[in-house]
Amino acid sequence: MAISRLGDNMAFEYINKNGDRKPKIKPNIENLSNFKKDFNWEEVFEEIPWLPGGGLNNAYVCIDSHVDSGNGNNVAMIWNGKNDEEETYTFNDLKVHTDKFANVLKELGVCKGDRVFVFMDRLPECYISVFGGLKIGAIVGPLFSAFGPDPVKDRMVDSEAKILVTQPELRKKIEGIIPDLPDLEKIIVVNKNNRTDDPLVDDDLSYEDLMSSTIPIESIENTSQYDYSIMHYTSGTTGKPKGALHRHQSIVQQYATGKWALDFQKDDIYWCTADPGWVTGTSYGMFAPWSSGITQIIYEGGFSASKWYSVIEKYNVNVWYTAPTAIRMLMKAGEAPIKKNDLSSLRFIASVGEPLNPEAVVWGNENYGMPIHDNWWQTETGAIMCANLSSMQIRPGSMGLPIPGIELAILDKDLKRLPPNEPGILAVKPGWPSQFFAYWKNDERYNSRFKRGWYITGDEAFMDEDGYFWFQGRSDDVINTAGHLVSPFEVESALIEHKAVAEAGVIGIPDKLAMEVVKAFVSLNNGFEWSKELRLELMKFSRGKLSSAVAPRDIDYVEIMPKTRSGKIMRRLLKARELGLPEGDTSTLEDD
Ligand code: AMP
Repeated sequence: MAISRLGDNMAFEYINKNGDRKPKIKPNIENLSNFKKDFNWEEVFEEIPWLPGGGLNNAYVCIDSHVDSGNGNNVAMIWNGKNDEEETYTFNDLKVHTDKFANVLKELGVCKGDRVFVFMDRLPECYISVFGGLKIGAIVGPLFSAFGPDPVKDRMVDSEAKILVTQPELRKKIEGIIPDLPDLEKIIVVNKNNRTDDPLVDDDLSYEDLMSSTIPIESIENTSQYDYSIMHYTSGTTGKPKGALHRHQSIVQQYATGKWALDFQKDDIYWCTADPGWVTGTSYGMFAPWSSGITQIIYEGGFSASKWYSVIEKYNVNVWYTAPTAIRMLMKAGEAPIKKNDLSSLRFIASVGEPLNPEAVVWGNENYGMPIHDNWWQTETGAIMCANLSSMQIRPGSMGLPIPGIELAILDKDLKRLPPNEPGILAVKPGWPSQFFAYWKNDERYNSRFKRGWYITGDEAFMDEDGYFWFQGRSDDVINTAGHLVSPFEVESALIEHKAVAEAGVIGIPDKLAMEVVKAFVSLNNGFEWSKELRLELMKFSRGKLSSAVAPRDIDYVEIMPKTRSGKIMRRLLKARELGLPEGDTSTLEDD
C-alpha cells in the first residue's frame, strides 16, 4: 500500500548550536540508547522516593522529598503573572503552602478519595491546591480555565466533586450552574494579590483567610501506588466526556520520561506552556519536572510570540515543551521577534498534542538552532509513550520510537499486527506505569478500550521498517483543535438547548494554524427560519455555554440532518460534503 509519509525525502541531521553534527548523548539515557528489550520499570520504581510509611504520594515525590534530601532551598517555581508580577517559590515554600492547604481541606472534612476540583488560571495557588489535595489523598480534577459553564457543570456533576477551588472572575463565569452541583459543599476563592475588591459571594470561603488561620498538616496521607491521584476529563465521540483516573504510580513514568524525552538535567530551567486543565499541564507542568527537582517557569498570560520569547530570555529557559499550534503561530510571527531576544539558553525543545509538521522541525533547527522533538501520548496514557529522544536521529514528521518499557503496535480491523508501513489502529500493550485505571463510574467504557490484550488508542498510524511511528489521524469523530480534544457530542448537546435548534451535527474542519476548527450544522424546529442573525445568535449562545475554545467557529444550516437508520447523525457525511470529498458508504443513511 502506498503511503504518503510526511517528510519522507527530507534528509535531516541534528546540528546543534555549536555546529556539532552529532546529537549529544546524555549520560542519563546512555544505557537506554539501545532500547534494551529487557528494560524493567523496577529500575525506575526504585529511583522514586517512597513515603516513609511505605506508600507512594505524588506530592511527596515532587515536593517534600526534596526538602528531606536537603534541596529545599532550590527554586521550584518562578511565577510570572499577567500583570508582570513575579513570585519565586522554593521547594521549602511549596512544602509550607501545600501542608497548610492540605490541612484546610482536612478541616473542611475532605477525606481520601473525595474529589477536589480546581478551576483556576495559571496562578501559584492552582499548583498549591493540586498538591495540597494530593497530600490528603483526594482525587484532584484540574479544569481548563477557559471553559464555559457547561463543561464545568458536566465534569463536576459527574465526578460528584465536593470542593471547588477557583478565583473571582471564574466563579462569576459559572455562577449560573452552582445550584446544579448537588455534591458541592464548599467553594474556596483565591483572590490573588487582591485583584478583586469584593471577592466573596454567598457561603464562599476566602483562600487567604483559610490559609492564614490554619496550621500545616501533620503528615502526608500514606497513599499506595494504586490510589487515585488526578482525574482529567477527556472527550469521546458519544456521550459526555469521561473522567480518566490516574494513580499515584503514574509518577514513575512521568519522572522517567522527563529525563528521557525532555532531557531534564540537574539545574535546568523548564517551561511547559500547557494549561494544568489538560493532562500535559499536570503530567509535564507539575509531576515530571518537580519529581526531577528542576525549576519551572509558570507564565500566566496567553500566547504572544514576543512575550513568549522574552520569557525564555528573561528566565534563561533551557527546556521548552509546547504544542504544534503554538509552533505554527511562532513560525507565522517569523524571525523578527526571535532576533529581538537572546534565546541562547535553550537546549531542548519538544512538542505534543497534534502532528508536528516536518517543516516545523526543520524550521526549529534553522531558527532556534535545534530541532523540535515530537512525542506522542494521550490523557489515558498519562505520560509520554513514543518520542524523538535527544539521543536519536529525528525523522521529521514522525512521533519517534516507543520509549523503553512500552510496546506499541499497529493492528488491522481484526486486531492482528500489521507489517511495517501499513496504516492501522495504534495500540499499546497494557500495564505501563502511568496507565489510567478507570473512567469515573464508567467501567463499560473503560473495558471497551481494551481488546485482545491491547489498549486501543483511537488513533491511526503506521510504523516504518526502523520502528518509528507516524501519525495518520483519529479513528473516531473527536476533533483536535489547537491540541485540545473536543467532543462533537458536547457541542451538539449545547446547541440543541437553543429553542430554534432541532438537531446539530458537529465536525472538525482542517485549519492551517489550529489543525482543526469546530464547525456545526443545525436543522431547525418548526417556526424558525435560517438567517444571518440566527447564526450569530447561535454562535453567541454556544460560546456562552462552552467557551470560545470549544464552541463552533462556524455554524451552517442543513434542511435535513443526515442520519443512519438507527438515528445516529452521520458526521462523516457532513464532513465529506463540507470538504467536497467522496461520500463513501451511505447505505445506512435514512431514506427521507
Ligand atoms: P489528549 O488525550 O487530549 O491529550 O489528546 C491525545 C490525542 O492527541 C492523541 O490520541 C492524538 O490524537 C493527539 N496527539 C497527541 N500527540 C500527538 C502527536 N505527537 N502527533 C499526532 N497526534 C497527537
